[in-house]
Amino acid sequence: MTPRRDTSQQRAVRQTIESAGRPLSLREIHELASKQTATLGYRTVSRIIGRMLDDGEVAPVLVPNQPDRYEPAEVASTHHHHFRCETCDRVFDINACPGGISNMLPPGFTLAGHEVMLWGQCAECAK
Ligand SMILES: [Zn+2]
Ligand SMILES: [Zn+2]
Repeated sequence: MTPRRDTSQQRAVRQTIESAGRPLSLREIHELASKQTATLGYRTVSRIIGRMLDDGEVAPVLVPNQPDRYEPAEVASTHHHHFRCETCDRVFDINACPGGISNMLPPGFTLAGHEVMLWGQCAECAK
């Protein structure tokens, strides 16, 4: 029997993801949501996220050689890219696109989509 969807734990996880303004890892979600619901376990967070993925409420952000991050499906539906700070390990939204990427294709190829991942140091860490 799976727990009811609308538990305070589920609400804490959803609020954390929606108010973060950037994609979060399971560890970050656990850390932040625990401030609202002290008894929240990491495995519970993992289970809630799994269900939100199944329901299409959140989307994974794939970071090479890193654990997945998660963002609201609404955010994911808008074309944007991501930046990972190598110092603090946070991932940020980049609301811009280089564009013109189809110019890179060999003749005869057609482009269906692209991913751009940026990394370096965020403003806070670069100080
Ligand atoms: Zn940083
Ligand atoms: Zn783009």
